[in-house]
Amino acid sequence: MLLRRPGGSLELAEMPVPRPGTDQVLLRVDCCAVCRTDLHVVDGELRDPKLPLVPGHQIVGIDEATNVRLGVPWLGWTCGVCAFCRSGRENLCDAARFTGYTLDGGYAEYAVADRRFCFRIPDTYMSEEAAPLLCAGLIGFRAYRMTGDARRIGFYGFGSAAQILVQLARADGRDVFAFTRDGDTAAQQFAREMGAVWAAGSGTPPPEPLDAAIIFASDGSLVVTALRNLGKGGTVVCAGIHMSDIPPFPYELLWNERTIRSVANLTRADGEAFFQRIASLRIETRRTVYPLDRANEALADLRDGRLVGTALLKM
Ligand SMILES: [Zn+2]
Ligand SMILES: [Zn+2]
Repeated sequence: MLLRRPGGSLELAEMPVPRPGTDQVLLRVDCCAVCRTDLHVVDGELRDPKLPLVPGHQIVGIDEATNVRLGVPWLGWTCGVCAFCRSGRENLCDAARFTGYTLDGGYAEYAVADRRFCFRIPDTYMSEEAAPLLCAGLIGFRAYRMTGDARRIGFYGFGSAAQILVQLARADGRDVFAFTRDGDTAAQQFAREMGAVWAAGSGTPPPEPLDAAIIFASDGSLVVTALRNLGKGGTVVCAGIHMSDIPPFPYELLWNERTIRSVANLTRADGEAFFQRIASLRIETRRTVYPLDRANEALADLRDGRLVGTALLKM
C-alpha cells in the first residue's frame, strides 16, 4: 500500500520485491500493526516523508534467508558517530532514519530492514500479538520509564500503547487512571477491563492528584488538563510525535517542580529492556485485523476513534 502524496489515501500497488542491501534482511511480512504516527505521516502532519512511501513501522516478518522471525521498529537506522549516538541517545541521532517514514515500511508483503535494528520475537508471542509491541510497546515503555516511581499515573488516550502499559504498570504496583474522549464509554470500559483503577472523560478530574501523566493523544490542550491534575513534583510525558499547540497556562500550574517533557523515538537498548521486562509477563492486546488492501479503512477507523485497541494489517 503506497502513499504517493500526503493528504491522500494509500494506493494498492504491485511493486518488485525489494532487494536487501548491506546489513539488511529481506522479510516476508506476516503482519504490521497500525500506529497513530502512520496517520500523521499519511495526513501530512510529519514533514518530508520518503515518497512514494510504504508506511508501517510495527512489522513482524520472517527473514527469507534464515527463517527467523523478526520485528522491525520505528528506529530503522542511525549514524553511530554523532554526539547523540555516542552517548546512548541514538533516539536523537541527527541522521536517523525511520521505518515507514523515511524508509519503506511494512504495509506490504515484503520489506527490507537493517538487521542491527530488528528484534527477535519471543517464541511465546504469536506474530499478531507481537506487532503492537514494536512501537506502542517499545516507545510506550520509554515514556513509562520517564514517569520514574510515580504511583498514580494518568493515561490520556487509551489506545494501543495504553492497553500495553497498563499491564506493566499494574505488575509494578502502580495505579492507572485512564482519560478518554468525553463520552467514549466504550474506551472507558476497555480501560477498566485492561486494568485501569479509574476511567472517565478527559474533562473529569481524577479522584486524587496524579504523580505523573502520559499523553498519548495528539490534542495539546490535554497537557494543560494533565498539569491541573498533577501533584507537586509530578511529570507530564508527551509520548506522541505530533501534537496540536499547547494553549497558554498560568505558571502556577508548573510551579512546585512539575515537569513537562517529550519522548522521542526509541533506542535499541529500550527494546532490549522492554523484551526482557515482558519475558515474565503475558501482555494481552485487543486487536482489530484488516487485510492489507483495507489499510485505508484501518487508518480511517483509528482517525475517527472507532477502534478499540490496536488495528493490525494481516498479509
Ligand atoms: Zn547519530
Ligand atoms: Zn509508532
